[in-house]
Amino acid sequence: MLTLQCPYCGVDAEETELHAEGEAHLKRFGPGSSDDDFETYLFMRENPKGVHFERWRHSNGCGKFFHAARSTTTLEVFGTYSAQTYEPPQDIKDKITAKYPGWSWREFA
Ligand SMILES: [Zn+2]
Repeated sequence: MLTLQCPYCGVDAEETELHAEGEAHLKRFGPGSSDDDFETYLFMRENPKGVHFERWRHSNGCGKFFHAARSTTTLEVFGTYSAQTYEPPQDIKDKITAKYPGWSWREFA
């Protein structure tokens, strides 16, 4: 079972206490954007085999949203952090790079 530590209340929460909210770091486009940008925002999602950044909610706890970096193949969790960031903290990116040399952060569209 997947266990994530809520970065707000510090609880190690099992998957059943959490609610998956999809991909993290989505760049949002509103009604004034181009059709292509809006379509990408609505429908296009990553589905990687390996490192993935997800948005979670501690629904049966503090109720706050946070982000998690983990591997979709091994369920290894590299860390959790505030959802109010544009990219993962450097220490989490360093952990991922140590495990997957050559990996690099990219901006999400
Ligand atoms: Zn919490």
